[in-house]
Amino acid sequence: MTVRTPVPSLNPGDTVGVLGGGQLGRMIALAAASLGLRTHIFCPDENCPASQVSSKFTRADYEDDAVLRAFAGAVDVVTYEFENVPVDAVAILEDAGATVRPGAMALEKAQDRLVEKEFVRSLGIDTAEFHAVDSLADLERGLDHVGRPAILKTRRLGYDGKGQTRLTDKDIDLHASFEKAVAFAWAEVGAAPSILEAFVPFEREISIIGARGSDGAVKLYEPIENVHAGGILKTSTAPANVSAATKAAAEKATTAILEALNYVGVIGVEFFVLPGGEIVVNEMAPRVHNSGHLTGDACAISQFEQHVRAVAGWPLGETARHSNAVMENLIGDDVTDWPAIIREPNTRLHLYGKNEARKGRKMGHATRLTPLT
Ligand code: AMP
Repeated sequence: MTVRTPVPSLNPGDTVGVLGGGQLGRMIALAAASLGLRTHIFCPDENCPASQVSSKFTRADYEDDAVLRAFAGAVDVVTYEFENVPVDAVAILEDAGATVRPGAMALEKAQDRLVEKEFVRSLGIDTAEFHAVDSLADLERGLDHVGRPAILKTRRLGYDGKGQTRLTDKDIDLHASFEKAVAFAWAEVGAAPSILEAFVPFEREISIIGARGSDGAVKLYEPIENVHAGGILKTSTAPANVSAATKAAAEKATTAILEALNYVGVIGVEFFVLPGGEIVVNEMAPRVHNSGHLTGDACAISQFEQHVRAVAGWPLGETARHSNAVMENLIGDDVTDWPAIIREPNTRLHLYGKNEARKGRKMGHATRLTPLT
């Protein structure tokens, strides 16, 4: 076992190791390159979007102890671009002497929706009412507790609306009985450990992209307003249409989360905004976040560069915005519109290098910019 002293700060030419090779890893690699840093992507999928633009690529499974240890020895710091990286892989990397930023704690809290909600509540921040569900009987009790409509979500491995099912009075009426409706919902989530959440009657959804440096400095981008379709983010807009009080509450919550996790890197925190302006945390992503893509076009320092700065131990950049922006995700066949989008004035097109435009797959995004008013 090679034991290396954690490196607090990287130098140009050093290598950032990234677990995961999707579009987020790709945009991290591009930002790192522009700062003179190399990236080494670790991903189980050959020809992943990030491997096309990184200095080095290791194709291996997150369970492969020997390859993880070799990776730890080949890079100067490790980060991850998706939250379902096994915590055991991070433990192996740390045991092999790697510094992993953000560390295992953020992954542990974000990988399990029940743990995540309990953590957020422990900081005095509101979440939807929830009930842990490990059986059909729990689900029936949970419906008594949180009421209807409600959403049943698997505790682990859900994303983009996957592993979720709604329980409304109408759904229940469509079945022959309440018992059948509940059994159907339980089967929909694969009878896996789940959480039942009260449906939040939100007026809008926002996110805050926050960053904490290795010196503890915190910088936040202003709130971004998000619209989802079928559980997948469709558009993100800056500025968000929220009051100063809502903005301040969301900023305070994000800072509290960053500090409680002793976090180093960029985080995305998603909020529901109630009609009275109060905020409720939906979830947090311990990584760069889809809603923050517009920072790359509308702010001097993108969330990707901010993340690289943080994990490299460099000072964080300013988060001010120089344009208004609407980011649109190009999902599945939307990407076939690229020849028209690229002709639009004041629009930046980003394509992720994915070959096949499967339904629901994020293929790219476009950011439409307008001057500040
Ligand atoms: P999630 O994967 O948990 O972020 O859910 C995806 C989207 O589903 C959210 O951004 C909301 O639009 C909607 N959603 C999820 N949970 C709730 C909830 N408890 N109440 C209302 N809408 C929800």
